[in-house]
Amino acid sequence: MAENKNDLMEKIVSLCKRRGFVYPSSEIYGGFAGVYDFGPMGVELENNLKAHWWKWMVHKRQDIVGLDSGIFMNPQIWEASGHTKGFSDPMAECKECHTRIRADKALDEIGVVADEKMSEEEINKLFDDNKKKIKCSNCGKQNFTKVRKFNLLVKSNLGDFTDSYSTPAYLRGETCQGIYVNFKNVLDSQHMKLPFGIAQIGKAFRNEISPRQFLFRLREFEQMEMQYFTRPEDDMDEYEKLKDYRWKAILSLGIKEENIRWKKHENLVFYAKEAYDIEYNFPWGFDEMEGVHARGNYDLTQHSAGSGKELVYQDGETNDRFVPHIIESSGGVSRLFLAVLCDAYNEDEMDGEKRVYLKLKPSIAPVKVAVFPLLKNKPELVKKAKEIFDILNNEIQPIIFDDNGNIGKRYRRQDEIGTPFCVTVDFETIEKPVSTRGDESTRGGDASVTVRDRDTGKQERMSVSDLVAYIKSKI
Ligand SMILES: [Zn+2]
Repeated sequence: MAENKNDLMEKIVSLCKRRGFVYPSSEIYGGFAGVYDFGPMGVELENNLKAHWWKWMVHKRQDIVGLDSGIFMNPQIWEASGHTKGFSDPMAECKECHTRIRADKALDEIGVVADEKMSEEEINKLFDDNKKKIKCSNCGKQNFTKVRKFNLLVKSNLGDFTDSYSTPAYLRGETCQGIYVNFKNVLDSQHMKLPFGIAQIGKAFRNEISPRQFLFRLREFEQMEMQYFTRPEDDMDEYEKLKDYRWKAILSLGIKEENIRWKKHENLVFYAKEAYDIEYNFPWGFDEMEGVHARGNYDLTQHSAGSGKELVYQDGETNDRFVPHIIESSGGVSRLFLAVLCDAYNEDEMDGEKRVYLKLKPSIAPVKVAVFPLLKNKPELVKKAKEIFDILNNEIQPIIFDDNGNIGKRYRRQDEIGTPFCVTVDFETIEKPVSTRGDESTRGGDASVTVRDRDTGKQERMSVSDLVAYIKSKI
């Protein structure tokens, strides 16, 4: 871990750009705030994180099913859910330079406890009381407008062919509303029994006043949410189980336990029974990575009232009818992505040189194996390396072939993207076609290669017939 934590953030942003993990959106046009693009390495890591979540939240669980609902939904959904009125952040504007700030975050930074759930009055009072301590982040002056609540829903003109937006179709502000409104569909079509869950991964959009901290607070982002429906009397037991389950899932990504912690929400929304976040120790300190929330029966009750359709569960044996309670697991892909990168970032010295490497768990690394011919200008080495690449690529993906630059530089490039294994084809590979390891009668004609371990830099000689099994056992 780098010593200075601000330093670490800069290093990670720079690594992300240099190695094709993350690019600023629309960079050649001067950028676009609150949006980032995932590059060739980033999309692999991102897909691996989503697959891991899906495996834990859907495939490993007989009681949870998946869903992929639309980004656009009937605008009445956002009325019923309370988003058109309550989904807002407190904003103040610098009168000198028109920079907009989030009043609650500005208060937080000077040690005053505030959050976005406070009323406009409450937060204005706090903001006024602390006026002298709050400076504009852009011009440094202290001349702000009153704080007002700014709604975060992003409007569109979908289906509206007039010039005035009467009822705008919103881009969804969260994915879970698509789950609530499909509760009946899933219940009836899949014959689910309580308790059961519905999981979804998908994009969401928020008109964030000040997108910040790289991938942490974005205007366009991806959520991974699971809503779990329970009998009213069982919700808090299930809540504890879900908390444990998510904690284990995060550790299984290889994230260090000392870098995560639980944080209880002190200021709950009125319907919530309990809410905890899993915080990660980001370069700026512990901050929310994902949440586990007990939401009572609020969501289904609101959508029953809003739609006029009864969203209840009927017990097959007792014929009891009731509105299930909901507990949810809600996380952001890019926050997890950033946490995983911060956790894996390492610097050390190897062969007398400083090196950077990502100590990613092999199963989530963007590239599993890199295959090199020792020298680019020896056709027999290149040919053999391509042959071995094909053998590996049949069994393990994604892997890459690299003959660009000297071997040391190639190792460093792979270290920086976290490739766990580098396979090098050298003169021994072609001169001694039979493996020196293992049983020659079953491995006749087998060549050997060196396999380099990313974390230790140690190289091991291995016959090609052992190679696939060896790497598969590690990833
Ligand atoms: Zn200003």
